[in-house]
Amino acid sequence: MELGHTEARDLFSAYVDEDLAEPEEERFLEHLDGCPECHQGLERFEDTIAQVRGLPRHRLPASFTRQVLRRAKHRNRRQRELAAFMVGPLRVPVEAAFPIILAAGVAVVLFLLH
Ligand SMILES: [Zn+2]
Repeated sequence: MELGHTEARDLFSAYVDEDLAEPEEERFLEHLDGCPECHQGLERFEDTIAQVRGLPRHRLPASFTRQVLRRAKHRNRRQRELAAFMVGPLRVPVEAAFPIILAAGVAVVLFLLH
């Protein structure tokens, strides 16, 4: 049985979702082969679907930025805690400890190179 335009267009969505049974898909594609109008219609339909489905990917949820910021903040705190733990006995501010650690590292490297 040949598919009519209306029937073919009714199948656009099922075809894009790959929900068509094989014989049905065959008849659908057969109609598209001989019908530039429906062929074009399907392309437009697929474009629309792609745009609609693409939207959520482009629009990040409002909470996303906040989550990332919170995670970054959390990580900074972990690093500070770790640094405080390492330099704790020295009783130096964490900020001052970094150059000291860096200098120590450089000293070690220089020592190893000589
Ligand atoms: Zn048609």
